[in-house]
Amino acid sequence: MNYYDQHLHTHFSYDSEADFVPYLEAFDGMVVTTEHFDLANPVTHQDDAPDYQAYSQTIDELKKTYGNRILKGIEIGYIASEKERILAYLADKTYDIKLLSVHHNGQFDYLDDFVADMNPQEIIPAYLSQLEEAVATIPANVFAHFDYGFRLFNLSVSDLQTFEPHLTRLFQAVIAHDLAFEVNAKSAYLYNNLALYDYAIDLYQALGGTLFTIGSDGHKLAHFRLHFDDLFDLLHQKGITELVTYQNGKPTMVKF
Ligand SMILES: [Zn+2]
Ligand SMILES: [Zn+2]
Repeated sequence: MNYYDQHLHTHFSYDSEADFVPYLEAFDGMVVTTEHFDLANPVTHQDDAPDYQAYSQTIDELKKTYGNRILKGIEIGYIASEKERILAYLADKTYDIKLLSVHHNGQFDYLDDFVADMNPQEIIPAYLSQLEEAVATIPANVFAHFDYGFRLFNLSVSDLQTFEPHLTRLFQAVIAHDLAFEVNAKSAYLYNNLALYDYAIDLYQALGGTLFTIGSDGHKLAHFRLHFDDLFDLLHQKGITELVTYQNGKPTMVKF
């Protein structure tokens, strides 16, 4: 079992205070963190970007104690208005893994409380269109938490199925860009969207998608590798026997 958590945050993300060490002490395999990069963030009213130099130095230092099992990652939050600055920031930096996300629309983050009272029929298509644009615009490895924009709506599978033509177009683009589909443990278990993942995994597979990754999206040790055994079982039931991991942007399939 070489599979490791591929969606994780530390204090290099604006919304986490976690340190690397507890993750490294809790797990003896590879540890990668995927730190938030959210420009024009409406949550903080600023640009949130990980300090790449400090991040790299911290990892180099930790490798002296923990060995060569720490990887560099980033979670790129796409927003169209900042496209040029996003690409410019990424241009001179290297990462083992890049997650691609949409967290906000310039006005609000999709997890802001008041979103729960907004109209899903307006919010969901707009969010899916943002994702389509992100996938077409930003080179990355992983298509993260497809459900982020509607986590607060408590959708049933049949609610989500009404958007299937749009989801199909989106997943076709995900596949065409060789992005792995992320099974996000936080979405599945902390936002109760496991059934939506069950449905979306089937749709992605039916369209020819073969690359899967599991991430806890943990911002603290308590969420590290959250419910991974349950998610392994779910994927096994669907005939999936390998997950994709990334080092220096290169994919490697690992059995699990
Ligand atoms: Zn995210
Ligand atoms: Zn995240």
